[in-house]
Amino acid sequence: MSKDWSKPFWQLYRSSYETIGLISGMSWKSTATYYKLINETIKEELGGLHSAKIVLYSVDFAEIETYQATGNWEKSGQVLAEIAKKLEKVGADFIVICTNTMHKIVDQIQQDLVIPILHIAEAIAEALLESGVRKVGLLGTKYTMTQAFYKDKLVEADLDVLVPSADEIEEVNRMIYDELCKGETYSKSRATYLTIIKRLKQAGAEAVILGCTEIGLLVQQDDTEIPLFDMTTVHAVKAALATL
Ligand code: GLU
Repeated sequence: MSKDWSKPFWQLYRSSYETIGLISGMSWKSTATYYKLINETIKEELGGLHSAKIVLYSVDFAEIETYQATGNWEKSGQVLAEIAKKLEKVGADFIVICTNTMHKIVDQIQQDLVIPILHIAEAIAEALLESGVRKVGLLGTKYTMTQAFYKDKLVEADLDVLVPSADEIEEVNRMIYDELCKGETYSKSRATYLTIIKRLKQAGAEAVILGCTEIGLLVQQDDTEIPLFDMTTVHAVKAALATL
């Protein structure tokens, strides 16, 4: 389905959503952030003892990463599609895939589902359009930064996307899998990310997308004057608001 950018996700498919289905564990560190942010948003909106209705399936990321590294996306798609069906069966009204990279196989996950998926790149594109940004830098895994599945969604929304140099892409990717997905944060790596963010700005980016759900564990808005769009925050908050 091609997206109507004038309408938010929750107006597109049906009139009410209650329960969020999270496909998570990629990595579990960032899933913890999703869980916290979704609940905090509901608490902020509804107050009192309110919290989010969530069904959560957390994978063993080592298995998924092996499929990625060996190019076996079809198999990873089968695994995540089965999980999505399970979440649908137990009452999820829509699905949130808690990783940017695995949106590469979003169509395979969606094809047997009745309920929709809140696409992470559509969520960020909406946020960027709302804020008036047109030219944006993108950081994420090498798959996210170099392949069409993610960038095309942003281009479809009339955004200009800048990515780092080939060497920087390798380094950003290495830090994600070797450090951040294991929950390791190093000040040297933070400095490297900030240098790359600065270079993206010098190349014309008005803002930078933290397009990997773990980068926000290392780099935050307070670290730089360049506006950052942290995918995890945008995706989690949009998911929570969709249930109100
Ligand atoms: N969480 C990361 C992302 O948002 C990387 C892990 C993965 O490959 O799924 O892309």
